[in-house]
Amino acid sequence: MKCSKCSQRAVFGNPRYCKDHFIRYLEAKVRKTIKDYRLLTNKDRIVVAVSGGKDSTSCLYMLSKWYQVTALAIDEGIAGYRSVTLEDLKRFCAKHQIRLTICSVRDEYGFTLDALLNKTKEKPCTACGALRRHLINKYARKLKATKLATGHNLDDEAQSVLMNLFRNQVQLSARLGPVTGLISDRRFIPRVKPLYLCSEKEITTYAYLMDFGVHFAECPFTGSSYRATVCDLLNEYEGAHPGTKRNIIKSFLKMLPGLKARYRTSQAPQSCQRCGEPSAQAMCKACQFIVKMEKY
Ligand code: SF4
Repeated sequence: MKCSKCSQRAVFGNPRYCKDHFIRYLEAKVRKTIKDYRLLTNKDRIVVAVSGGKDSTSCLYMLSKWYQVTALAIDEGIAGYRSVTLEDLKRFCAKHQIRLTICSVRDEYGFTLDALLNKTKEKPCTACGALRRHLINKYARKLKATKLATGHNLDDEAQSVLMNLFRNQVQLSARLGPVTGLISDRRFIPRVKPLYLCSEKEITTYAYLMDFGVHFAECPFTGSSYRATVCDLLNEYEGAHPGTKRNIIKSFLKMLPGLKARYRTSQAPQSCQRCGEPSAQAMCKACQFIVKMEKY
């Protein structure tokens, strides 16, 4: 099968492009997303939240070509997994001369995610997400970021939209979109998703063709999450009805301005009574875990 733009062998089916044309196509798509949704400017101090996986590494690479960036990774303490992806990330950042900050859940809180899960009945991804969000925001602020870019792709977003629908939590979808969040508060670094319109398949192909040296292994907790169930369902549906994921996002983007207007609040979140970070409750989720662990 030939590339639809030249005589080279196609490496991707839809659009049917050879390696060079596919790379150009995907990078142009990300640049257009940044421009159309005004995600970043040259004046921004950009921190990219990275894990060492294909999505965040691709995001980091592209942004580092066009902007000054700093990479920020969290070591949650997931034995046999995170240490491997962080080694990949260190190699990648050294090769591309990108400044990297790694902060560890163990150093910050005195326990690892594995220890928390061994001692409590917390759901892995809920606990992991809360600890990561807490540290990423705190360290992005320390790094004086004006924007925090993440590697979320079109598949991630379509899953989140469906999960919120299935759980009757549509108010949470108001926080989604290429620019996340509902309120501007100096304690929150605005989060943006440059890969918003790129599918998982496109990013996987890009990372492979660019030979980033990332492992494609999944976190050992992935399979136990609700997201994994929705992911399987969507993949099955996409197989039978190609274009489903993209159509979910197209429809969602039409609804998003209305959702943001409906759920936007002028009220700033309160400060956690323990750490002072912004929190929806008197004590933020991360501090609730710390207090729980202090009992053991
Ligand atoms: Fe954390 Fe869950 Fe992702 Fe593993 S799959 S890194 S536990 S959010």
